[in-house]
Amino acid sequence: LAVFTRVEAVDDRVKAYVTMTKERALEQARSVDRQIKNGDKISPLAGIPVAIKDNMCIDGVRTTACSKILANFVPPYSATVVKRLDGAGATMLGKTNCDEFAMGSSTENSAFFVTRNPWDTERVPGGSSGGSAAVIAAGEAICSLGSDTGGSIRLPASFCGVVGLKPTYGAVSRYGLIAFASSLDQIGPFTRDVTDCAAMLNVICGHDPLDSTSASYNMPDYTGFLKNDVRGLKVGVPREYMAEGINPGVREVIEEALARLETLGAHVEYTTLPHTEYALSTYYLIAPAEASSNLARYDGVRYGYRAENADDVIDMFMKTRSEGFGSEVKRRIMLGTYALSAGYYDAYYLKALRVRTLIKQDFDRAFEKYDLLVSPVCPTTAFRIGEKTDDPLEMYLSDVCTISINLAGIPGMSIPCGFAQGMPVGLQLMGRHFDEGTLLRAAYTFE
Ligand code: GLN
Repeated sequence: LAVFTRVEAVDDRVKAYVTMTKERALEQARSVDRQIKNGDKISPLAGIPVAIKDNMCIDGVRTTACSKILANFVPPYSATVVKRLDGAGATMLGKTNCDEFAMGSSTENSAFFVTRNPWDTERVPGGSSGGSAAVIAAGEAICSLGSDTGGSIRLPASFCGVVGLKPTYGAVSRYGLIAFASSLDQIGPFTRDVTDCAAMLNVICGHDPLDSTSASYNMPDYTGFLKNDVRGLKVGVPREYMAEGINPGVREVIEEALARLETLGAHVEYTTLPHTEYALSTYYLIAPAEASSNLARYDGVRYGYRAENADDVIDMFMKTRSEGFGSEVKRRIMLGTYALSAGYYDAYYLKALRVRTLIKQDFDRAFEKYDLLVSPVCPTTAFRIGEKTDDPLEMYLSDVCTISINLAGIPGMSIPCGFAQGMPVGLQLMGRHFDEGTLLRAAYTFE
């Protein structure tokens, strides 16, 4: 497997992998070899080297969510996506670095180390699935998986110049994904091109009885949408996503992409998603609220890290959680617990749920008129390592174009569409629920 030679050559500088699963990969590669020698039918991803974000479980392989609290956790089962990749013949290279419990936009919140952007190692790869994007950009894997709660696939895809897709909520099973915010989390692929993205969707999408929010729907063959034709496609550009704060270089690249869609026969016009200004506040109430509940299970009793020298059981809980969680995770637990507490629940959490519905309705209305919405993924390109670590609000602003998509549950995709100040710029495509096909169709014209 030549890809291991590549990992050995570059991962010292990129630092994308947390754990390698070389033995597993070699065993899988040997079994594909046997299939070929026996003349058996070859599986769709036979021998394709894949990597997954370290918040998805693999039976017998350390799975940490890049937190000290799970640093030695070895799950006794595999996530559904892992079983599907195995079934499709993929070879599993290893687990990639991410922000702790997927909370962050730069991969600087990992408890282990910072992953670097392969285009400029002084810059962040984006987050939270930064490792999964970096391995594709650096040639350390052919395909990878990330998870996206509020942009964590699309932002790193944009910063690293690769293709990343967050499927419709419910399209991919979350069984075996370490939960951050369960009503927003969704697993999706990173690839070099749109064709590989469609091939990955064919493997990972589809109903799973082990996830109660997994949808039963008529899953198409996603490769069927790879036709070079956007004639007649109605494309809306939400004005709010091209507003003041956008970097002029990024704006220019996005405008060129819009002009290109028009030249190819799509109808492009500006539109509005009026509740966009509330998206960040809504997300940063709902996501921490769900996180504070999901993270209650890390108490030092059931699994994971346990602090030593505790006086009694309450002291043990407190020491375990203070020592095991990093500062961003603690911040979210505090925000979420506050928003859910008696007396504040109605004013914050319930209000946020109502605004979430308004945001979803903005999209419903837009999709009555348009087949596709298009915007930048982020108002800027990849920022410098350390630039935003002292200011959480500044960091949260990187998510301004991506989080509404999770709140609405619709599919969103980032495709490379040019460079600004020498760094890649991602174009975001947003579609109707379960209409990943239209995203692929439009994305394919940029190949
Ligand atoms: N940056 C966002 C956050 O920190 C999104 C994270 C994600 O999508 N997992 O919550």
